[in-house]
Amino acid sequence: MTEEKSPHVLSGTFLSEEDNFRRTLLSVSDAVYLTDKERQIIFWNKACEIITGYSASEVLGRRCSDNILNHVDMEGRPLCNSDLCPLYQSITTGISSSKPMVLMALRKDKSRLAVEVSVAPLFDGEGNIEGGVEVFRDITEKQQLSEKKAQFLSSISHELKGPITIIQGFLELILSGSTGETNTLQNDFLTSAYKEGQRFQKILDDLSDLARFESTEFSFTFEPVDISELLMALNERNIGEATRKGLKIEMKVEEGIFVLGDWNRLYQAFYNIVSNAIKYTEKGRVFLSAKKLKDTVLIEIEDTGIGISDKDLPMIFEMFYRVDSEVGKKVGGTGIGLSIVEKIIQRHHGFIEVRSEPGIGSKFIIRLPILADN
Ligand code: ADP
Repeated sequence: MTEEKSPHVLSGTFLSEEDNFRRTLLSVSDAVYLTDKERQIIFWNKACEIITGYSASEVLGRRCSDNILNHVDMEGRPLCNSDLCPLYQSITTGISSSKPMVLMALRKDKSRLAVEVSVAPLFDGEGNIEGGVEVFRDITEKQQLSEKKAQFLSSISHELKGPITIIQGFLELILSGSTGETNTLQNDFLTSAYKEGQRFQKILDDLSDLARFESTEFSFTFEPVDISELLMALNERNIGEATRKGLKIEMKVEEGIFVLGDWNRLYQAFYNIVSNAIKYTEKGRVFLSAKKLKDTVLIEIEDTGIGISDKDLPMIFEMFYRVDSEVGKKVGGTGIGLSIVEKIIQRHHGFIEVRSEPGIGSKFIIRLPILADN
């Protein structure tokens, strides 16, 4: 198939380079389309045609935001004509999505479907951004299954919360001395049981949070969030624990940067990252910074802690994944925190990445789109 004859291809340096590569892209089972910098579609493969109902000749040369896919997020917010469009963000920042995002799309026949979307910028030979690529797949069935899983997780954690709250209540009562004297050994055993109960409660809280984030019915409350205010509040909450460990928390935060976000959820995400930074750092400092970078705010949380090896780095956002380390065993944890962080950042159309060196420290980098008139 030559480039001129193919109805799937319009133009583009990237596409004219490798004929075989283009042919492969055309027939892969995932929907793949490419755009130029203005998001005008220059390539539309067969899976795009099957999933959306639009043929290549109908869409080539049109902007993808021009009533074609009509992506909306799980809160029902339209993305295509806003700065929140993942492809637009990727083209403007030059960053690929770290994991697929779950969005809704509209078919030509106006039916809605759930899609998993990944985006990346396209570069020319000199490293300049010349467009973007979006890969998506129909996950309607997978989504229905994950809804069922979320409901199951949610009811299990709800059922378990009741008994453990009662057990903790009785333990508290005995430990307070109001039911009579306990000897030192009994006291030690009861205190250990109470602490384990607290750990169990924390796991149940994390599980029910996870279940809620998996569910499309769980919506966030979006409002303008002042990033410096949020990081200050976080600092106040963490300073005590850091000081106890002899760590310094330093901050360099630009004021007046707003994002459209859910304050409580963003707070929860950054709290998880900062409390990990403190948890996994024995000496030195934790450094929080935030600055405006084009249409995004760049937030970095850096520590001088134990670091994470290259082998573990790709896994740490996986649910229940914990690095096998002495410090990790000592401080304890569930391996759920960072998977919640990732879900929250994705629901805010942001990106998160980590750079780390064992023995030197880690840096968590988060990019969030800033509020349009900010
Ligand atoms: P956990 O409850 O185990 O802390 P998380 O999901 O928050 O679970 O983190 C997953 C794993 O990533 C942790 O067990 C730890 O090994 C690693 N990790 C996270 N943050 C850091 C950090 N700042 N420094 C070193 N390791 C970290």
